[in-house]
Amino acid sequence: MTAATDTEHAPRIWTNIIMFAATFLVAITVVPWYGFTHGYSAAAWLSFVVLLAFCELSVTCGYHRLWSHKAYEAHWFPRLVFMLGGTMSLQNSALIWSAGHRVHHRYVDDNGRDPYSAGRGFWFSHIGWMLREYPSGKPDLSLVRDLEKDPLLRFQHRFYVPFAVLLNVGVPVLIGWMAGDLWGVFLLGGVLRLVMNHHLTFFINSLAHAWGTQPYTDENSARDNPVLAVLTFGEGYHNFHHIFAHDYRNAVRWWQYDPTKWIIATLASMGLASKLKRVPDVVIQRSRIAMQFKRLERKLDEPRLRVPRLDVERLRAQFSEEYQSFMATVGEWSKLREEWVARTRESLAQKIGDVDAEFKRQSHVIVARLREQQRRLQMLGAQLA
Ligand SMILES: [Zn+2]
Ligand SMILES: [Zn+2]
Repeated sequence: MTAATDTEHAPRIWTNIIMFAATFLVAITVVPWYGFTHGYSAAAWLSFVVLLAFCELSVTCGYHRLWSHKAYEAHWFPRLVFMLGGTMSLQNSALIWSAGHRVHHRYVDDNGRDPYSAGRGFWFSHIGWMLREYPSGKPDLSLVRDLEKDPLLRFQHRFYVPFAVLLNVGVPVLIGWMAGDLWGVFLLGGVLRLVMNHHLTFFINSLAHAWGTQPYTDENSARDNPVLAVLTFGEGYHNFHHIFAHDYRNAVRWWQYDPTKWIIATLASMGLASKLKRVPDVVIQRSRIAMQFKRLERKLDEPRLRVPRLDVERLRAQFSEEYQSFMATVGEWSKLREEWVARTRESLAQKIGDVDAEFKRQSHVIVARLREQQRRLQMLGAQLA
């Protein structure tokens, strides 16, 4: 064990330990006790649902996709809302959160540098990393100089602690007082909501690096998981996210659950967000297929493969044929892109729309071809199962 990964001797952070333990204990004892003895009003339940969604989405839309990854740009109004919700989530200032998250992406799974490396175990990546002063968890604010330019974030960072306490106590008390159910709202909208906020976000660092599939890359521990997507307001497609971190989406198919993406798209349609970054469909599909080839190759080379030798030879031939066709399609795409860039440069402003439309049309054809190939490779893989 190196000094960086020493889990025994790093000094404990008592404020965090007490805050996490106390809120968790109240949530599992006082919250149900109060429910059984006094009952909760509809207002208390409503405050829980609304505040949970508000805080969680502020972290996913704001802290994560806007500030950590700069996947889009936002008007000051949504930025203010995300800053308030993020503060109320009690997960540190956006500057500290984003600095840590940028390191997580850069050094993912490196136990000495990734602040919540999954390689150090479930407990560590979930919450343990915040309970001691590990060298890997020390925030490096030089990584968020770009965010420091935003006065909203400078203000939040400067007054973070009193501001967070004020919001976490003040908002539930105010709503509870107005609804005539002070304790009910405080316990559900205040305490239970905060504990849920914490652990749902922490699941992205723990469960989303351990449970699920790896359709795009197996070079890091991140996983795609639709169950986690529901629990984390769309952040469960974490395998996609780690390979295409600057894309404003985590889920790319229409049927996948990603309310964070829907909110960002809605803000854009209202003129409150702009410059939404999207990885081209061809590139996404290319990674999926490259991953399929990697898996198939491993299977074909497996010494204990329970498929007759002749069939293995036939499948190998099919594999190399598919691979050649894949490389040809990838080459075609690169050429198409180069041509598009060149033609965009040459074209007059009024003609650019036509050039783009033609590029889009041809890209669609390539994506359709790659999807078809994805299905064929699935069938090939099924024969090896
Ligand atoms: Zn991650
Ligand atoms: Zn991220």
